[in-house]
Amino acid sequence: MRSRFENERRRVIDYLRRIGIIRSDKVYRALLSVPREEFVPPQYREYAYIDEPLPIGFGQTISAIHMVAIMTEELDPEPGNIVLEIGTGSGYQAAVLAEIVAKQDPNRRGHVYTVERIPELAEFAKKNLERTGYIEYVTVIVGDGTKGYPEKAPYDRIIVTAAAPEVPKPLLKQLRVGGKLVIPVGDRFVQRLLSVKRVGEHEYVTKHGIECMFVPLIGEYGWKD
Ligand code: SAM
Repeated sequence: MRSRFENERRRVIDYLRRIGIIRSDKVYRALLSVPREEFVPPQYREYAYIDEPLPIGFGQTISAIHMVAIMTEELDPEPGNIVLEIGTGSGYQAAVLAEIVAKQDPNRRGHVYTVERIPELAEFAKKNLERTGYIEYVTVIVGDGTKGYPEKAPYDRIIVTAAAPEVPKPLLKQLRVGGKLVIPVGDRFVQRLLSVKRVGEHEYVTKHGIECMFVPLIGEYGWKD
């Protein structure tokens, strides 16, 4: 018998698929597999399947489920990909990515590197990833993600889950030729979801997507604190 959370998860994920936000089987399966209730603070557990951002402390949020679905569909990660995420937060998006690139990869070659600037949140995410069994596919790094993580570059996919004033140059450099970067870019209040494909050594093609609202990306190539 399914638990209450499993039922609620299936209801919201099935709804997102019915209305066309979830388009692929890989994103559908990943969202059904990752228990969002394990990535929210205990006092918000019962609200885990309300499709809205929830507070995770330090003025930050876990993104709404539909936004994680939209960004993951746009990023289009493949099994075996090496992914860089900027803005670990709760670790939920990292787990969804790990499900696709590593757990759904028969060879388990994929990996997610995720950078968080607030050490306490990096710790929170690590614990959540440990408890849910995703930590073996995810490395959590504390630092300024606007500089990327050159140690493991180039990346097949880069996803930024905080709002930037422009695309940070180091992230463009750390993207593999043929790779894709998804990032909300705009002002502090409203942004557009950009999707940048690196089509050559010095050639990038940018697509402008939906309007969105994210907390600011703070750092050397982002907003100043
Ligand atoms: N992906 C997260 C999840 O699944 O819970 C939600 C991310 S939350 C909307 C944005 C996160 O970006 C916050 O945790 C914030 O501290 C972080 N952040 C902001 N600027 C950053 C930077 N320069 N480097 C790394 N993380 C940053």
